[in-house]
Amino acid sequence: MVKTISTKKELFDQIDSYITNPESIELIEKAYAYAEEKHKDQKRSSGEPYFVHVLNVAYELAKLKVDPNTICAGLLHDVLEDCNVSKEEFLENFNEEIYEIVEAVTKISNLKFTDEKEYQAVNHRKILIAMAKDVRVILVKLVDRLHNMRTLQYLPEHKQKRIARETLDVYAPIAHRLGIAEIKNELEDLSFYYLDNEKYHEIAKLVESKKSERDNQIEIMIEDISIILKMHNIPFRIFGRSKHLYSINKKMVTKNKRFDEILDLLAIRIITQTETNCYEILGYIHAVYRPIPGRLKDYIAMPKMNLYQSLHTTIVGPDGRIYEVQIRTEEMDEIAERGVAAHWSYKEGKTRSQKELVNELRWLKAFEDNSDTDAKKYMSDITHDIFNANIYCMTPRGRIVDLAAGATPIDFAYRIHTEVGNQTVGALVNGVLVPLNTPLKTGDVVELRTNKNSTPSEDWLKFVKTNHARNKIKAFFQKKELEDKEETIKAGENLLKEELRKHDLDVNEFFDTKKLDKVAGSFQLSNSNDLFYAIGCKSMTPLAVIEKLTKFGKREVDLDYIEKITKRNAEKSQMISKTGIVVKGISSMKLALSPCCSPVYGDEIVGFVSKGQGIKVHRRDCPNIQDAKRLIDVEWDENKPDIKYETSIKIFSKDRSYLLTDLVTVVAQYKANLTAVNSAVNNEDLTATTSLSFMVSDLEHLETIMANLRKVNSVISVERAVK
Ligand code: MN
Repeated sequence: MVKTISTKKELFDQIDSYITNPESIELIEKAYAYAEEKHKDQKRSSGEPYFVHVLNVAYELAKLKVDPNTICAGLLHDVLEDCNVSKEEFLENFNEEIYEIVEAVTKISNLKFTDEKEYQAVNHRKILIAMAKDVRVILVKLVDRLHNMRTLQYLPEHKQKRIARETLDVYAPIAHRLGIAEIKNELEDLSFYYLDNEKYHEIAKLVESKKSERDNQIEIMIEDISIILKMHNIPFRIFGRSKHLYSINKKMVTKNKRFDEILDLLAIRIITQTETNCYEILGYIHAVYRPIPGRLKDYIAMPKMNLYQSLHTTIVGPDGRIYEVQIRTEEMDEIAERGVAAHWSYKEGKTRSQKELVNELRWLKAFEDNSDTDAKKYMSDITHDIFNANIYCMTPRGRIVDLAAGATPIDFAYRIHTEVGNQTVGALVNGVLVPLNTPLKTGDVVELRTNKNSTPSEDWLKFVKTNHARNKIKAFFQKKELEDKEETIKAGENLLKEELRKHDLDVNEFFDTKKLDKVAGSFQLSNSNDLFYAIGCKSMTPLAVIEKLTKFGKREVDLDYIEKITKRNAEKSQMISKTGIVVKGISSMKLALSPCCSPVYGDEIVGFVSKGQGIKVHRRDCPNIQDAKRLIDVEWDENKPDIKYETSIKIFSKDRSYLLTDLVTVVAQYKANLTAVNSAVNNEDLTATTSLSFMVSDLEHLETIMANLRKVNSVISVERAVK
């Protein structure tokens, strides 16, 4: 059998056997001449002209009876890559369809799987299929590989092994799924030859040694069966066939059998005309020879995924030997040998849409054998998963990552690793920096930029396509929220402890979960953690909590405690060194704020010159200013000094329990340190007058506190005090 060719005539004889349209032939002639010219100075490793490779690729395609465009693509499949032909130049000479096939083949050829660890044969097959889109691309790639395998002896050994491994892992299974048994078998045997040369020769020798004996036995059986079929007037062809070496080895290894135990070593094939003929032949054979139970397989009624149809039976011959018999029609045989290619063999005057082709590709689905899958669902799964839903991208080191269509670099990053996703700051797709929401395409090489200190953005949730990434991003934010909350609770706890110590209260006594839970309840919070959280968030002062805590601890207001606060604060408050007041035209005069009306920064003020005591500054409405002649204009310095002003107020209210505590709490809430507290109750009308002195920053601060004191229950009025 001639496997490779070397002349134009051999190619065109094959083409002429099924293409006669002069325009088509002309197109192929043009592609032939073009490729021959472009490759004319190139040589293969074998020393042969490079064009011989191209010629053989086209020849194998013609044997598969593909359409003229695909033959042209076969002839031109290496010109983009190896001859630097531009897209423009290509399209000036050939149509878009041919270009697309060649371009896809080139793209697939450029897939590099250099990293051994990252190499995943299954994904490799998937990416190849997905990149191909058009099954004709795969056919070109397959026969390209076939011819390369046939000429592998010219490459160095490490390359032989790598290419053979890839062929066995990736291309042979694809050929199998396509149902192209002939190519699949040859690819397997060639790979076997390079991967395990010793074993290959061992089996080849065994097969050879048994050949004459086997041929003899098969010949006798063929004669016997022929007599039976002739008697019944059934049209048929019958011949013996041999298993190829790789499958014999595989059976010996996987089924742990000795060479002579391999059942279908003696195999016969019968080709007939109709499906009915097939079943008739089966019946006549079973009537004469005993079939082995469980070995009858009806692939006519139940075709295989790759569209293979045939009847298989195993019978015991008159010599006691076992024969495997395959019975099928010519058409089924063609499909068995040429697979899916046979299904849409080019027929002139009839064009088929890509959709039709896709619909026949039942073999595609994930390369799994599940022959009982519902056909309809199966079809939709294929079109959905393989052609639409999935894209296959790669890391710069060649690891393949499959993602939903529309997936972005962020989806990709999370598929690599959660940490990588969380720290992604940028992405290069095919070497170009792109926005993180850019949809990826099959074949894209994605290189991620990460930063250890970077965290995910909530915006990512708006564009990520995979649930995987979405869940990881959400998980990150949930965790962060939790951590933040824990931190806030811890901070609140510490603030409360600090405040307790500040008030000389026993932390151990008051820091009691039961008590704290009770306090929380009084603030409509569910537990002490929520209470700490509220303090941590500054939505509640620790003092307010302490007030409740002490209240729960003792029945009445702890006046001692308030006294302690005021005393401590008075000690702490700094002496006012600079008043923040300027007097026009006078630079060095003794100035002091009058304690009677205790002005604060922002108040309307006036200076009162007193004998030998410098200037006393009063509020303008202070009733103590009597002698208008001794008044002098003073004003607050535009730059407020960083000091606090002590001032006093008078609160008039109805008397009630805890009034004082509530008032003190308000003052404390606004961080005005108390310096004096005085309270007087009028027993006749049960009213109370409370004087509070404290430190404020300015008038605004003071007015805020006064406004809030007015809101305290039972307070009637709040005024500035004048002594
Ligand atoms: Mn090639």
